[in-house]
Amino acid sequence: MREHLRLDVDDTTLRVALTEANPPALLAALVHLTGDPDLLRDDLRPQAGHLREPEAGFTAEQLAELRSLAFEVLSSYRGEGRELPPAPDEAIITRTMNFCTGENIPPEYVPMMLGEMKLAATDSYAIEWHQRPSPEVLDRFRVLVIGAGMSGICAAIRLREAGINFTVVEKNSRVGGTWLENTYPGCRVDVQNHFYSYSFEPNHDWPEYYSRRDDLQAYFERCADKYSVRGNIRFETEVVSARYDTETATWNVRLRRADGSEYDFTANAIISGVGQLNRPKVPGLAGLEKFEGPTFHSARWEHRHDLAGKRVAVVGTGASAMQFAPELAGSVERLVIFQRSPNWANYSAEYSKQVSDNKKWLLENIPYYSKWYRFILFWRTSDGAYPALQVDPAWPHPERSLNAANDMMRQMIGDYIRSEIGDDPELLDKVLPTYPPFGKRILIDNGWFRMVKRPNVDLVTDHIREVTRDAIIVESGERYEVDAIVFATGFHSHRFLWPMEIVGRSGTSLREVWGENPRAYLGVTVPDFPNLFCLYGPNTNLGHGGSIIFHTECQVRYVVRCLRELLERGNDALEVRREVHDAYNDRVDALHSNMVWAHPGVKSWYKNSEGRVTTNSPWRLVDYWKMTEEPDLSDYIVT
Ligand code: NAP
Repeated sequence: MREHLRLDVDDTTLRVALTEANPPALLAALVHLTGDPDLLRDDLRPQAGHLREPEAGFTAEQLAELRSLAFEVLSSYRGEGRELPPAPDEAIITRTMNFCTGENIPPEYVPMMLGEMKLAATDSYAIEWHQRPSPEVLDRFRVLVIGAGMSGICAAIRLREAGINFTVVEKNSRVGGTWLENTYPGCRVDVQNHFYSYSFEPNHDWPEYYSRRDDLQAYFERCADKYSVRGNIRFETEVVSARYDTETATWNVRLRRADGSEYDFTANAIISGVGQLNRPKVPGLAGLEKFEGPTFHSARWEHRHDLAGKRVAVVGTGASAMQFAPELAGSVERLVIFQRSPNWANYSAEYSKQVSDNKKWLLENIPYYSKWYRFILFWRTSDGAYPALQVDPAWPHPERSLNAANDMMRQMIGDYIRSEIGDDPELLDKVLPTYPPFGKRILIDNGWFRMVKRPNVDLVTDHIREVTRDAIIVESGERYEVDAIVFATGFHSHRFLWPMEIVGRSGTSLREVWGENPRAYLGVTVPDFPNLFCLYGPNTNLGHGGSIIFHTECQVRYVVRCLRELLERGNDALEVRREVHDAYNDRVDALHSNMVWAHPGVKSWYKNSEGRVTTNSPWRLVDYWKMTEEPDLSDYIVT
């Protein structure tokens, strides 16, 4: 049966709301609402390359025509309302995608985009049984999910949907993971929320384009309730160890409660959702133990210390410091920032903007509009930048950039930084990176450059020599007296699944196998560790664009489909073949060797101490989406 739509909105409200609509998303939605692809008329074709701008390549005349057309179409749904036309077919959707972006979207992207937008006839991330196993088979099988953050909740939701038994253990007392733990001032997501959200759970009510930590936390809490997974979570419970028992093809897991007491749990499969950025890293600075004031890590912010009016040191200048340091600068007496290397940080007009009520109304009330808006965000922030990360061997300036596109990016962000810093060559020299853009995560400027110009802010680039009772001393001997030290020094990102002791089939621990060189097939499975699956595992961090939730949804789909295969075939375990795993990692390394992270000028947490890129994915989003669509059981030893 076709859906009946009745819009209850007056003329003025509708006209005003339409002036705030994202033009390509609105035009695409109109094709659905009319069932008429002829709306994609030449006189409405936007100019390519402007998707980031509010007008998205549409001229003033085109915008006026589009809004008037939209008013007419939407008005036909007022009063008694009417039935929505049948959904357009894939060919029309593809044509709409190309037309509205003004680009030629390669056909390989279409299935992925349909899935992301939930425009396909079926949910492309859903786990559908070919032949549902008997209740007895399902009853005997239990999955342990480690962590109730973004990935763990996603896995739990899909396991629930598939009818597979699961228990989630979470070391904290609430869900949310990184969004629970990071409470530093100014903490917010730096990927647009209408894309940084589960594809199956859009939120039309995000208060900001890049919402704050509390709103993210509330979203994940809501998801845990809405999809009934909270009841399966054992809070304040940590995994101490897990040992694979070949006899029973099960994992014997040792769990520890908050009171320190331990108990055993048996699982047929383990899904780790602990992420890459969970265990804070504080550098072992000489003399740190002598410091008498408060010291803490940004991911463990100690709110009991009032920093207002104090002299505060910040060590580290990555994504976390970018968000909280400018928030502190106005209230502290002095802010001393110790920078080891600068970051490329760009301007975003929407970064701290509220989403207006009109925009929320459009997202909530115009069918298909929010889906197309997600598509536009996805497209403009996904694989478009990928070529800019590849080395062009013929490029004449390899020390500063990789290729022409990368150099253009360098020029563009450099111009922005220069415009912010103005005529202070010494400061400019400190904040302008020498390595190519994308060598580290490109940050969104949260007022950083204006902050470093403040009279109460020192940006120190000399390396720290030691910490004393009340000061930080740098190599030159200069002494900075401070009352508190905040470490924004990142995480133990190479020690995946640390500090858990995971022991595989042949009695070797994952820690021994990996050391600081973690490798997994598709970032998910490891030889000798049957039925162990990692989410956001080795080489799955996104460095060129996209939202990490997208990668998680790909991985969860893959993992739960692996479990589906096991259960349907009546098998116990699957273990990735070593040669498949090794060949995959050879491909990963070969791709990385030609990408920006391997550039000699780049030092980052993406690489381990030997220079191998262990955290980042070298793939385009569309490649990873395809590789993780369906498990190929010939990659596995199935027992
Ligand atoms: P990070 O990117 O690893 O930055 C750590 C900073 O500390 C770097 O500036 C690093 O310098 C510096 N540092 C490390 N050890 C040091 C030492 N011994 N002495 C002096 N400086 C030292 O950590 P982060 O800022 O917490 O961000 C980590 C990741 O979390 C991000 O890349 C991002 O993926 C994610 N994140 C996301 C958001 C968001 O979405 N809103 C916010 C925050 C973080 P070098 O650069 O020279 O190594």
